[in-house]
Amino acid sequence: MADRDGVIWYDGKLVEWRDATTHVLTHTLHYGLGVFEGVRAYETPNGPAIFRLQDHTDRLFRSAHILGMKLPYTKEQLNAAQLAVVKENGLKSCYLRPMAFYGAGKLGVAPPVDDVHVIVAAWPWGAYLGADGLEKGIRVKTSSFTRHHVNITMCKAKANGNYMNSILANTEATRDGYDEALLLDAEGYVAEGSGENVFIVRKGKIYTPDLTSALEGITRDTIVQLAEEHNIPVIEKRITRDEVYSADEAFFTGTAAEVTPIRELDGRTIGEGRRGPITELLQSRYFASVKGQEGSRAEWLTLVK
Ligand code: PMP
Repeated sequence: MADRDGVIWYDGKLVEWRDATTHVLTHTLHYGLGVFEGVRAYETPNGPAIFRLQDHTDRLFRSAHILGMKLPYTKEQLNAAQLAVVKENGLKSCYLRPMAFYGAGKLGVAPPVDDVHVIVAAWPWGAYLGADGLEKGIRVKTSSFTRHHVNITMCKAKANGNYMNSILANTEATRDGYDEALLLDAEGYVAEGSGENVFIVRKGKIYTPDLTSALEGITRDTIVQLAEEHNIPVIEKRITRDEVYSADEAFFTGTAAEVTPIRELDGRTIGEGRRGPITELLQSRYFASVKGQEGSRAEWLTLVK
């Protein structure tokens, strides 16, 4: 991350961006066991607000619980930390990155259980898969890398080390000229993107893979709820890559990626090769929700005061 002004919440204190450093023998740096969140704040008519803050904090604690990591702060403290970094950095809209990691107390596979640190950083971040991608859709390639198996890593945990798999997949896809990767699970069924859940639309119904090996996305849940408001059926089921090829529409969801249409998979055009009408409807409802506009739910927004 480029050198910059601003503050990062680090173990209970707001420290200067440049001073938020750690030792080279940090356990998580060596073995990858840590947990994190990706959260966004948006500008709303009442000022900046964090979208589904409590749900993100709850997932951070679930991730830590799954990995047997004891966080030395309460949920209330970490909610307050996230609100503080938005406010203290004077940000109107931003991405937030809470992360918990083991310190340098002890090296060796067994982690230093009493040496857990937490940071929360925030910075402006535009459309993750490009503003053009949000409007026109992106080109995706099925990855040669398999998504995690449920008994190899813990798929329900948003764990630092899980992202090695995402990096391999995303790097391969972008190096080959695509915008993002689609990963299949160990049995060959569609799992998710490197940092997104995936949906397809066929004959007015929406389908999305069950959560066996995909992260329980908060944007995914938001989209399911918005689709229900419009009486669009959402079906969770195993999906094959050829079902994606022959879908009418497809899209990715994620806090960073928001709602990004997929216009092509493996050189096959999906539907009309552009953002489809159901994708467009849900995407516009999503942006209205995060920005506190018409139809937004107050309980999803925590104002930064
Ligand atoms: N899957 C993976 C692998 C991710 O990294 C993310 C981003 N957190 C998602 C799905 C989407 O989750 P969310 O909507 O909660 O950001």
